[in-house]
Parts: sequence; C-alpha cells; structure tokens
Amino acid sequence: MEKKHQINIWYALIAMMAVLIFQSWWTTYKTVEEIPYSQFEQLLSEKKIEQIAIKENTIEGKFKTPLKDGKIYFVTTRVDLPLAEDLSKYDVKFTGVVQSTFLRDILSWVLPVLLLFGLWAFFIRKFAEKQGIGGMMTVGKSKAKVYVETDVKVRFDNVAGVDEAKRELKEVVDFLKDPKSYGRLGAHVPKGILLVGPPGTGKTLLARAVAGEAGVAYFSISGSEFVEMFVGVGAARVRDLFEQARKAAPAIIFIDELDALGRARSSGGMGTNDEKEQTLNQLLTELDGFDPSSGIILLAATNRPEILDPALLRAGRFDRQVLVDRPDKSGREAILGVHIKKIKLDPSTDLEQIAALTAGFSGADLATLVNEAALLATRRNADAVTLADFNEAVERVIAGLEKRSRILSKKELTTVAFHEMGHALVAANLPGCDPVHKISIIPRGIGALGYTMQRPTEDRFLLSTRDLEDRMAVLMGGRAAEEIVFGEISTGASDDLQKVTEVARDMVMRYGMDPDLGNRVYVTQQRSFLGQPAGDMADVSSQTQREIDDAIKMRVEKAFAEAKDLLNAHRNELDEGARLLLSNETITSDDFPPIRPLAERENSAAAQ
Ligand code: ADP
Ligand code: MG
Ligand code: ZN
Repeated sequence: MEKKHQINIWYALIAMMAVLIFQSWWTTYKTVEEIPYSQFEQLLSEKKIEQIAIKENTIEGKFKTPLKDGKIYFVTTRVDLPLAEDLSKYDVKFTGVVQSTFLRDILSWVLPVLLLFGLWAFFIRKFAEKQGIGGMMTVGKSKAKVYVETDVKVRFDNVAGVDEAKRELKEVVDFLKDPKSYGRLGAHVPKGILLVGPPGTGKTLLARAVAGEAGVAYFSISGSEFVEMFVGVGAARVRDLFEQARKAAPAIIFIDELDALGRARSSGGMGTNDEKEQTLNQLLTELDGFDPSSGIILLAATNRPEILDPALLRAGRFDRQVLVDRPDKSGREAILGVHIKKIKLDPSTDLEQIAALTAGFSGADLATLVNEAALLATRRNADAVTLADFNEAVERVIAGLEKRSRILSKKELTTVAFHEMGHALVAANLPGCDPVHKISIIPRGIGALGYTMQRPTEDRFLLSTRDLEDRMAVLMGGRAAEEIVFGEISTGASDDLQKVTEVARDMVMRYGMDPDLGNRVYVTQQRSFLGQPAGDMADVSSQTQREIDDAIKMRVEKAFAEAKDLLNAHRNELDEGARLLLSNETITSDDFPPIRPLAERENSAAAQ
C-alpha cells in the first residue's frame, strides 16, 4: 500500500517535468525563428532588425516586423568574423553550428552523484536489514507498526480477577461512549492512565477491553519498538500515532512497555539515548497538546513504574495509575472460569481446587495451564478435561515458572504467612502505628515475598522516640514470628533488618535520641537528595564509635524483644491469622479483626 503510493509520486514528478520541458520548448518554437548567419547579415543590411543580444556562441534579436508566421524573435549561431566576411562575398548561405556539450555536462555532473547515492543507499539498506527494520526509503516517514483495530471483540468479561482495575477503567469507557455529555458538569477524565503490574496479569488485555466496551478504535504500539537506529524516527512515529488517532477519535491509544521508552533520562545507557529522549519529548509534547474532550484516551502499561521518567507521571500526563496485581485465590478462580470456556471440561472439575493449587500464577500462566491440561487430555484420548489433567499440568507449568523463581513451595508460603502476620499483629498492638490495611502472601515485584500494607492515617513530619521504636518493633515482627513458630529464622527478613538498622542508626547518630550519647549529631553530611549512603561519620574517637555501634545494636535487639513479647502474648491470633492468610492469600482487617488498630478495637468493645 505504502510502496505503491511512493511509486505513484515518482511517476507524477516525472510527468510534471516532461510537461515543463515541453512547454518551454513549445513557447520557444512558437516565437523564435532560427536563421542562418548569412540571412542575419542580410537582414541587418536591410535594416529589418530592431535589437540584438550577443552571446558567446549565438546572437539573439528581435525583428522590426514579425515574420509571416508570427515569429518576432530570432536566433543565429555566430561564425567568426574574417570567415564571415570572406563568405559573404560569394553569395552563399551559411551558418554556424554549436557543438552540443549538453550531454557531456550532464553526465559529468549526474553520474558521480548517482553513484554516491547508490552506494549510500546500498549500505544503509544492508545496515537496516541487519537491524531488522525496513529499507531506507521509509526513513523519517513513519512506518510505525501502529496496530489499529476498529472492532475489538474483547470485553471486560474476558478479564477476570482484577475488579479494582476494571472499576477504575469503567469511567474511561463511559467517557469514550459519549465524550460530549460527559464534560457537561465540567468534570474531565484523566488524559493518561498507567496500568502497572507484573507481566502476564492482563494489562494489554484490559486496554483492549476498554476499547471493546466503548466500541472505539484501538491504536497500540509497543515502547520497545521505538528503540530505533535513526534519530528522529521514534518522534515521527509518536506524532503519526496521535495524528491517526485524532482522525479516528474517539479512540484509545495504548503504549505497551512504556518503560522501554520512558526510562528516566539520566539512567539510560549510551548510544540510543538521544533517540529515546527525542521520542520521549515528542510523547510529552503530544500529551500536553491534546485535549481529552476530543475523545482520545491514552493508556500505557509497565511492569517497572519505578524507573519511569518523573516527567511522564506529572499532573496532566500519566497522572492516574491503576494497579493490575497478580490474582489471589478467588481471582484465579474467576480467570480459570474465563479460560475453561474454550475447552471441554469434565463437569466434576472444581475450579476452586485448581485455584488453590496455583498460588502465584498470573493470568497468562493460568491461560497456559488450561491449554496444557487440554493438551494432556487430548493426548490420552479422553472426552473431557479432568482435575487429574490439571494436576499434571500445574506441575508442568510450575516447573517452567520455577526457573524464573516466582512460585513458592508450601513450606515457604507458610513461613511467609507467619512472617507477614507477625508484622501485622505487632503493628495492631502498638498505639503509635499506622493501621494495617491489607496483608498478602502473593509475591509482589522483585525481592518481596509477601507484604503487609500499612496505610498512614495522617501525614507525619515529627516523630517521637516512641513512634520510631514502635516502627522498629513492627519491622522486627516478621522475624520474631518466624523464631517463635519455627524456632529458626530465614533469609526473608533481610530487607526488614536493613530498614530497622537504618532507623536505629538515625536515632542514635542523627536525632540525638540516645541518652548516653547525648544531644549530638554524629554524621557530617546530610543524606544526599538521591538517597545515596549517609554522610561520613564525624571525627569521633574509636571509643565513641564503639559506643555508637553498641547503641544501635541495643536498640535493634530491644525492638526484636518487644516484638517477640507481643507476639507471644498473641500467639493464638498469630496461628489463626497465618492459617487464614494461607488459605485466602490476601486478607484485610475486615477478614481478621485482630489486626485492626488497638484503639479501634477498644472503642468497639466499649460500644458493645
Ligand atoms: P500483560 O500485558 O499484563 O503482560 P496480557 O494482557 O498480555 O498480560 O495477558 C496475556 C494473556 O494472559 C491474555 O491474553 C489472557 O489470555 C491471559 N490473561 C492475563 N490476565 C488475565 C485476566 N485477568 N483474565 C483473563 N485472562 C488473562
Ligand atoms: Mg502486555
Ligand atoms: Zn518482613
């Protein structure tokens, strides 16, 4: 399609040139008479010539009266003077002839240029092929692999287990269905929404579902495709993408793998940096430039929001983030429900049981699982897929996933459950702590095996000694629970330990909170703004240094002891909570009241 266009343009250009050349020739032919030199001399002597212009090889001039065919100008080729005088004696018709050097001129100019151009094109094309992108004729012109779909079949029903994300995106659908009346009260939807979550959790699927639900065109492009060799191509693509979408509005623009493009500027490598920056800048420009009321919504997906350039996340750009997390047990059951529609399932198969077996699986993993199970059933010539097939398939899929180390064994999960419940219970039983909002043993991101989410009730800038000590006890709660329950500790708490040490260190060295060391700061520099290691230790005697070390150690130990005491006192709740966590994978304080803050529980007890 595009190629054909280009050829057409070439033809048109050639035809135009031909017309121009013909036209100039024709006007010359119509008005200028070419005469022999002898005739020119004669006309001259007859005084029939009004004016002449002498050129190197020719003489041009104008007749006093036009010739009978209307020609008023003439041109004759010069003959050198002595010869002309001689010849005019003999009454002979003569004229000069100019040897044409036109062809020679052209060739000497054009051939080298053509040759150079050809060589250049050849090498560029070779190079481009190696890079896996098209030939040079498309450079600069966007040949973006913009993927457009006008009739998206995916609906919200096809995406399961991510209800919160769906709820947020519902608003976008409503807007796209009727952009005009949506803004009737002055409300405006966000321009850019960033879907954040681990790979395979359904971000791409959700974006398509939004387009499908709203019935609008879906433009998508992947950030990694912008990593191009020619500077400026990416920027042109972005421009083109928005232009196309604007024509098709209302529409969704979906940029997958935004991190490949929007990596924070300073942290990029060498080489393609310039290109990425240009592309990113173009994207920012387009983001700022378009008016959401035009009916275009920008969606993007990333699994590494932390490396994105902060400029992308500013207000008015991708200022809304939607979390698309790994599904918990009930979420997995729902996702299985979506995918088993494609296969023939034995009616006795219990999806909940399969969901229980697949802790840590993402939506994509579950889709693979269903397919694996169907393949196994087919291989044994069964009529339908049974639970046994799923059991075997789970093992296969896990074997694949374990290489990527995302799946925890039963024992590991139990450890994580007690660990997280330890954090939560300590937090719930200390007055100065933020309330626990949610606990989960589904691994999130890299490193963390589970998490306990505390939601601060207010922003706090001043913390008392007691607040910091409570905070340390909560951080030690995980390890304390492990020790109480298993009598041994695991490596899972290293992150907690680092944080706890930092707090203790700051208390002793920065805030002067240690009674023995007194109101003194022991670090020279402020911590750098980028969070680099704390400044050097001030000049202190080795004696003082030892005291500092001891003080830090003492504070950490004290926090650990406090956490242990608290958990021992609530041992039953620890067991019960961990059990609940193991079976549900994610629990909130509504599911398990003992993790509500102390004050809240006392209030409700008093009310009863
Ligand atoms: P992501 O973009 O987050 O990496 P995808 O949207 O590409 O993940 O998901 C890949 C496939 O996995 C989908 O096509 C779908 O079959 C399946 N899948 C993932 N998440 C879900 C979900 N929440 N519900 C149903 N299917 C899902
Ligand atoms: Mg994707
Ligand atoms: Zn922990």
